[in-house]
Amino acid sequence: MTSDKKLSLFNTLTRKLEPVEPIEPGHLRFYSCGPTVYTTAHIGNFRSFLTADLILRTARAIGMSTTYVSNITDVGHLTEDDYADAGGEDKMARALKSAEGEQFPSIYDLARHYTDVLLEDWSALNMVEPTVRPRATEHITEQIDAIERLIEKGHAYETERGVYFSVGSFPKYGRLSGNDSAEQLEQAVRDVVVDSDKRDPRDFALWKKDEKHLMQWYSPFGRGFPGWHIECSVMSMHYLGETFDIHAGGEDLIFPHHECEIAQAESLTGKPFSNYWVHTRFLQIEGEKMSKSTGNFYTLRDLVAPEPEGRGIHPLAIRLALMSGQYRRPLNFTRKAVRDSVRMRERFLEARRRADAAVDAGSPGDDRLGERLDAIYERTLDAMLDDLNTSAAIAAALDGVKLISGMGDGLNAASARSAQSWFEQINNLLGFIDYDERDAGPDATVDDELAPKVEALLDERTLARQNRDFARADAIREELDAMGIEVMDGPDGSTWKRRVGV
Ligand SMILES: [Zn+2]
Repeated sequence: MTSDKKLSLFNTLTRKLEPVEPIEPGHLRFYSCGPTVYTTAHIGNFRSFLTADLILRTARAIGMSTTYVSNITDVGHLTEDDYADAGGEDKMARALKSAEGEQFPSIYDLARHYTDVLLEDWSALNMVEPTVRPRATEHITEQIDAIERLIEKGHAYETERGVYFSVGSFPKYGRLSGNDSAEQLEQAVRDVVVDSDKRDPRDFALWKKDEKHLMQWYSPFGRGFPGWHIECSVMSMHYLGETFDIHAGGEDLIFPHHECEIAQAESLTGKPFSNYWVHTRFLQIEGEKMSKSTGNFYTLRDLVAPEPEGRGIHPLAIRLALMSGQYRRPLNFTRKAVRDSVRMRERFLEARRRADAAVDAGSPGDDRLGERLDAIYERTLDAMLDDLNTSAAIAAALDGVKLISGMGDGLNAASARSAQSWFEQINNLLGFIDYDERDAGPDATVDDELAPKVEALLDERTLARQNRDFARADAIREELDAMGIEVMDGPDGSTWKRRVGV
C-alpha cells in the first residue's frame, strides 16, 4: 500500500512539528537508544521503546519500508554519566557486585541474562523486533577506530586516564539541548572533575583507561573500555549511514547523551547526523517520579506475573496503558489507568469475538460496515500520523468497536468479515489487541513444548465431536483450559493459543 499521507513528528532539534521526509523516499531509517542490560528494564524504559515501535508501525501503515536499529548497552555506561563525566562506576560492574549479581559467574553472564529478560519483555509487549539489535561489546573495533579518527582530526585528545572529546572543537555543541553557553553547559554537566588533565570541564570521555575493569580491550590508547556516548554514534552510522532520518530516546537522553552523539558523529563526517530527534517524556507512577527507593517502581514482570507474586495483568493491557497518553506528554501510570486499560482492551476483544462468531454463523446479507470502518481506520491512522497522538487514535478505534458491538445480533457474515479485517489493521497499527500473527508471543518456547500434547488432545476432541460424543469433547476442552490453552473453533477446524497473563 502506498499513500500520500505523511508522518509528522515533533523534532527536538528544531523544536517544531515537522513532516518526516526520509532521505531515501519511502524508506525510513531510524535509531532508538536501547537499554543498559544491568537490571530488568522498568516500564518507564518501555514507554520510550514503545515510541520507536509506534513510529515503525505508523510508517509501515503509510507504505514506507523501515530499517530500525536499537542497541543494547553492555559496557561503558557509568553510574554518573548523566552529570559527572567519566565519574562513577560501570553500571554492569556494579550490578555484578550486588546481592542479585552474585548469582552470575561473570559480567558476560549478567549481560546475557538481562538481555534475555529484555527480549522476553519486548516481545510480551508486542513490540516489533528491530532490524538490527547491535551490542556495544560487538562493536569495540569500530569505536576504537572512530576515536582514533577524532584524535587525528583534532576533536579529541589523550590524557593519562583516558581519551576525551574536545567540546570546544565543535561549535554546534548544545544545539539539541539548548545548553549553548559555556556556563550553562558546565552547570548541566555539574562536572566533578574526575580527571584534572581534562582541558575543559565540558569535555567528555571517549575511552576510559582501566586495566582492572572487568570488561577491557586493547587499544592504541591502552587497555580500557569505550565511553557510553561513542557506542551509539558508531553503531547508528554503521547500520544506517552517516546521515539518517530519526534518532529516538527518552527525554533524559537529550543531554548529555544525544548532544555528545551529535558532536562525535558530525565531527567525524562533517555531515548532519540525524535529521529528526524524537524524545519520550518520563512516566510517573501514581503522580510521582518513578523511584526504586520509594517503591514507586514497576517492571513489566511485577505487573504481569500471576498473583500473588504479580498483578496478573495481560501484557498487552500494560501496552495499552503505556499508550494511553501521547509520548510527548507526561503520563501518569496509575492502578486505575491499568484497570481501565484492561477493560478497554476487553471491549476490543469482545467485539472481535462477536465478529468471529458472526463470520462462522454465516448469516446472509450485504456488508453494512466496511465503508464506515474504513473511515474510522483512516481517522485512527491520521491521529498516529499527527505526532503519534495515541490517545486520539485509541479513541477513534473505540468508535469502531462501538459500531461493531452496536450491531448486536444483526451482524451478518459480510459485515463481520469487514470487522475482522478492520481489527487486523488496527492491531497492526496499535499492537495492543493481540499478538501479530507472525509472532508466537512471549512464550514461544513453552508453546513448542506444549504443542504435541495440545495437538493430540485437539485431534481427539475433533474425533469425539464427529462421533457426537459431546461429553468427551467438552471434557477435553476443560482439560485444555486447565493447561491455559484457549481453543478457537473455526470453519477450517480448531486452532489454539496459550493464554497470556490475564
Ligand atoms: Zn544511545
